[in-house]
Amino acid sequence: MLNNHWPRAIIFVDMDAFFASIEQLDEPTLRQQPVAVTNGMRGTCIITCSYEARARGIYTGMRIKEAQQLCPQLVQRPARPQRYAQLATRMSDALRDEISPDLEIFSVDEAFLDVSHCQKLLGPPEAIAALTREVINAAVNLPCTVGVGGDKTTAKFIAKEHKPNGIGILPPWQARDRLRDVPVTKLCGIAEGIGRFLAARGVHTCGDMERLPIGIMGKRFGYPGRRIWLMCQGLDPDPIHTSVSAPKSMGHGKVMPPDTVSSDVIRMYLLHMSEKLATRLRRHALQAKTFSIGLLTRQGWLGDTYRTATPTTDGAVISGLSKQMMDEHWRGEGVLQVHITALDPHPADGQLELFIEQDKEREAVNKTMDTINQRYGELVLGPARLLKRSDMPNVISPAWKPKGPRQTI
Ligand SMILES: [Mg+2]
Repeated sequence: MLNNHWPRAIIFVDMDAFFASIEQLDEPTLRQQPVAVTNGMRGTCIITCSYEARARGIYTGMRIKEAQQLCPQLVQRPARPQRYAQLATRMSDALRDEISPDLEIFSVDEAFLDVSHCQKLLGPPEAIAALTREVINAAVNLPCTVGVGGDKTTAKFIAKEHKPNGIGILPPWQARDRLRDVPVTKLCGIAEGIGRFLAARGVHTCGDMERLPIGIMGKRFGYPGRRIWLMCQGLDPDPIHTSVSAPKSMGHGKVMPPDTVSSDVIRMYLLHMSEKLATRLRRHALQAKTFSIGLLTRQGWLGDTYRTATPTTDGAVISGLSKQMMDEHWRGEGVLQVHITALDPHPADGQLELFIEQDKEREAVNKTMDTINQRYGELVLGPARLLKRSDMPNVISPAWKPKGPRQTI
C-alpha cells in the first residue's frame, strides 16, 4: 500500500489464554500441555485453559471433573492472582511507554491503544501492530493477538478473528464492507436484548443496519443506540478512556427471603438494586458501563459481568442488564441474595477525578470489593465451600485495573 496513513488507528491487544499461558511461562514442563486453571486446587470449574486443552474440547466454565474425563493428562493449576496482576501491570506499563500513552485497560488481559498520532514516529498501523506484539513479547514473553482498525469495535472484531497468536488488520476504508454480513450481536457491546429489538425490525447483520434510520436507535436507546448504529458501519466514535485511576466499584446487594423462586420477586429486588445504584452514581456525578450482576443460591453465585455500549446512570438500563442475566443464568434455583455492582464508576464528564469520598463511603466501597472477590471466588465453588470461605484464595476480578484501589484484588 502506498499511502498508509490512517485518519484514525486503534490497536486492540488481547492476551491468549492469559492465566494458563502464565502457568506455562513459569513452569516450562507445562508448555504444549493441556492446562486448566481453577480457583485453588479444590475449584470445581475451569477459569481458563491453555489452547492445548481447548483443542481437546475443554473450555472456560467446564467442570474440572468432566474435563479430566475428556482429557486424563489435563494438568490442573490453582490460580495465582497476584502473579497475573504483576504481569498485567508490566504489560500495560510497556505499552504505555513504548507504543502510546493513550491506553485503555479494557479488562485484565485486554487493552485498547489510540495510535492515530504515532504513525509518523512508529510507521503505518500494520507496523505498529507488529511492534505491539514485540513489546508484549519483550515485557512478558506471553502470546497475544493484536487487532488494528479505524475504531475500537473494528479493532476488537478483527482481533477475535485472528486468535490465537495473530495479527488482524482491518483498515477503516474496508470496515463497512467487511462487517456487512456479520451478525450485529457479534460486535462487542451489543447484547441479546438489543439484538432482539433489532431482529424485530429486520436488522440481523451490520449491513442491515443501514436500512434502519439512526433516529430509531437514538430514540429507543439514546446515545448508546446511535453509537451502535455507527459501530455497525465501522465508525464507532467511542474514544480511548485513559482514566484508569478513578474507578472504585460501587454496588448494592440485598438478602432475600430464603430460597426465593418467584421470578417476579427476584426481578423486583434486582430492579430495586438497579435504581439504588443508579441514584448513587448520579448523586456522586459518576457513571459506569460495566456491571457485575449476581444471584446467590445454595450452589454459589450465578451471574456475570455486563457492559453497556456507553456509560450510564440510568436504573432502567441497569435493570435491563439484570433481566438479561436472569435469562442467561437463572434456571429456577432458590435465591438467597441479589447483588449489582458498577465495576468502573467514573466522573460523568470524563475529566474530574477529584471526588474524594468520605470514610464512611470508603468503608462501603471496601465492603463491596469484598463482595466482588467472594463472587468471583464462589462462581467456582461447590456447596461445601460456602461454609469454608476463609481458606479460599482470592481470584482476580475481570474488572481488575493496574492502578488505583483495584491493584490489591
Ligand atoms: Mg484474552
